[in-house]
Amino acid sequence: MRFTVWGSRGSHPTVLTPAAVQSKIATVVQRIRPIDLVSQDARERFLASLPSWLFGTTSGNTACVQLELDRENQLVFDAGSGIIEFGQAQRRREPPPREYHLFFTHFHYDHIQGLPFFVPAYDPRVRLHLYSPLEGLHETLSQQMIHPYFPVTMDGTMGSTRTFHRLDPEGVELYGARVLWRELNHPGRAFGYRVEYGGRSFGYVTDVELLEPDFEQTAANSRFFGNLDAMILDAQYTLDEAIEKINWGHSSFSLAVDFAKAWNVRRLFLFHHEPQYSDRKLEQNLQAARRYAAGIKGGELQVDLAREGMTIDV
Ligand SMILES: [Zn+2]
Ligand SMILES: [Zn+2]
Repeated sequence: MRFTVWGSRGSHPTVLTPAAVQSKIATVVQRIRPIDLVSQDARERFLASLPSWLFGTTSGNTACVQLELDRENQLVFDAGSGIIEFGQAQRRREPPPREYHLFFTHFHYDHIQGLPFFVPAYDPRVRLHLYSPLEGLHETLSQQMIHPYFPVTMDGTMGSTRTFHRLDPEGVELYGARVLWRELNHPGRAFGYRVEYGGRSFGYVTDVELLEPDFEQTAANSRFFGNLDAMILDAQYTLDEAIEKINWGHSSFSLAVDFAKAWNVRRLFLFHHEPQYSDRKLEQNLQAARRYAAGIKGGELQVDLAREGMTIDV
């Protein structure tokens, strides 16, 4: 399995403002030495030496993650604005995929707002399967595409064949992968997913304010959270901010680290980045999360930011 992050901002998309772009360019220019400019090689080495928070951006788009089970088959989690570029990229593939399986954590705007702009959904050759543990998925999704909010309707203009699935308590089996789900602590209800395929496991657990019961060593918790090879986890806040924002439905990066350690996760990807945080601030949070993880007893835990465009083998 491997996953690609197409959007990892929380709450709303975060564009790089003119001031943010100017600040990045100014910082890069300050770092250039004459020796960095002497040849094409030197220039490329210089660019490669820049930290990722400076030479790019962590993520501007809201939640969307592609999980490729193998060369042929893939699943998609959430349809935030990241799904727009995902859809464009799929159109460029040869041959373009004809079948999509799209799982929703919940229906806050940052998890559905890209769907009306997901180009494969308009292609009559495409079969789109949409999943949620909640009933009424068709109504919920089609209602964001009605007058006066959107010029065309889902059923009137999306040419794909769409099938809406309500997930059973035991999850679903697809292409030989098992997809499990469970409810998370989040206003208005949200659901996390665990995928097992080829002896590996992947967790997509976002929009959750982790609580004491999530840490309890129950069979159900262990079955869902335990021993994941890779886990994408809500880590929107710093600890200070999480204390100010109790009941907002999100977690701090330090709690995310505690949680991943408690469940013996191998690799943790911090997700649902606070839109007010700059790339530099997110990088500082990452370094703090790594220091914190190193100080906790237990297995080795690798921590990273879920960065838009990254592809990770699970
Ligand atoms: Zn969200
Ligand atoms: Zn939410």
